[in-house]
Amino acid sequence: MTRDGNPAAVLFDMDGTLVDSEKLWTVAMDDYAAHRGGAIRESTRANMVGSNMTRSMLIVLDEIGAPGTAEELDHASRWVAGRMTELFADGLPWRPGAAEALRAVRAQGLRSALVTSTIRSLTEIALDTLGRGSFDATVCGDEVGGKNKPDPEPYLRAARMLRVDPADCLALEDSPTGVASAEAAGCTVLAVPCEVALEEGPQRVLRSSLLDVDFTALGALLAGARPAAGRAGTGIVGDELG
Ligand SMILES: [Mg+2]
Repeated sequence: MTRDGNPAAVLFDMDGTLVDSEKLWTVAMDDYAAHRGGAIRESTRANMVGSNMTRSMLIVLDEIGAPGTAEELDHASRWVAGRMTELFADGLPWRPGAAEALRAVRAQGLRSALVTSTIRSLTEIALDTLGRGSFDATVCGDEVGGKNKPDPEPYLRAARMLRVDPADCLALEDSPTGVASAEAAGCTVLAVPCEVALEEGPQRVLRSSLLDVDFTALGALLAGARPAAGRAGTGIVGDELG
């Protein structure tokens, strides 16, 4: 955290954290599987939450018994992106307390970024709901050179764009994949599970809803989640800190 006790920036995941869009992804994936005469098991879908399009579509292709060729992957990705464009345009429901959280971070004059695995074209539709003025930077799933969450690169890229140390940042995440990415980048994580349960961890604060979070006391939140040493800029994940 910075000298005033606040995070240098607050980094927001999108799907499942700010908007309740994981359910829309489920609809789009199910529609694609049905279009191909297949179906996706609930356990398989849970494994995709927080993943980028390529990883998710490879899992879907495997599930419906289709080959994971570049051609199949391209067709499936385009089909699902098209369906998601329709679903996003129909209106994105906020997660409870998310709109208030964005406003509170802005009211405190803190820097912020959107760090999403969703592709830029879909994110731009979501930004109509989230507000472009809510963020100083946005990082999308097709802008990280294939190094998607759980790789730390999306969070490292956001920190570079904001010129802050990722170890001074608070990341808001809902999925195990997203939490792993943010923690590997060195961020402290405010973890609010949506579709998949999350465990406690040394580098994270777990809450059941953003409504439970006091956004005027983010410095206290950071201090409470932090290991005493070995964090600054090392990229060391929480488990390795013991
Ligand atoms: Mg998410």
